[in-house]
Amino acid sequence: MTEPDLEERNAESLLTFHPAFEAAFQAARKSLREGGIPTGAALARGDVVIASGHNELVQHGDPIAHGDMVALRTFGRQRTHRDMALYTTLAPCAMCSGAIIQFKIPKIVVGEAETFPGELDLLRSRGVEVVVLDDPRCIQMMRAFQREHAGLWAENIAEDIDE
Ligand SMILES: [Zn+2]
Repeated sequence: MTEPDLEERNAESLLTFHPAFEAAFQAARKSLREGGIPTGAALARGDVVIASGHNELVQHGDPIAHGDMVALRTFGRQRTHRDMALYTTLAPCAMCSGAIIQFKIPKIVVGEAETFPGELDLLRSRGVEVVVLDDPRCIQMMRAFQREHAGLWAENIAEDIDE
């Protein structure tokens, strides 16, 4: 193995363990423990976590309360979002991508886009920097949830399902 490869891998694992990504992941786990949808998000300015949240569809009966939306709501009124990044366990849906574009958030770090593709191309087309971690913990958590709660997952992403 050459040295640059090693450096690249180290940079990647540092990213995976960014405090905001951990906050997003822990929020998703909290939602799972509560019987909710296990997706979470956090906003960070540099290494400082500013706000986090998880999906609240089940907890509050709120179909708009995806993790990304809840983190933005928790963050509250702000003069600008241009100096921060959004960390999220799963690729953002069309609604959350719209919010990211609307608030002019320049960068998102996504746990995984394997179990749900989201709107990463839309975000990139609007100039948002997108980093996908392919985090195995996120993939495993979503795979299990989508398998065990197919109806709930379909409701969350507004897909029809035969049950
Ligand atoms: Zn969403």
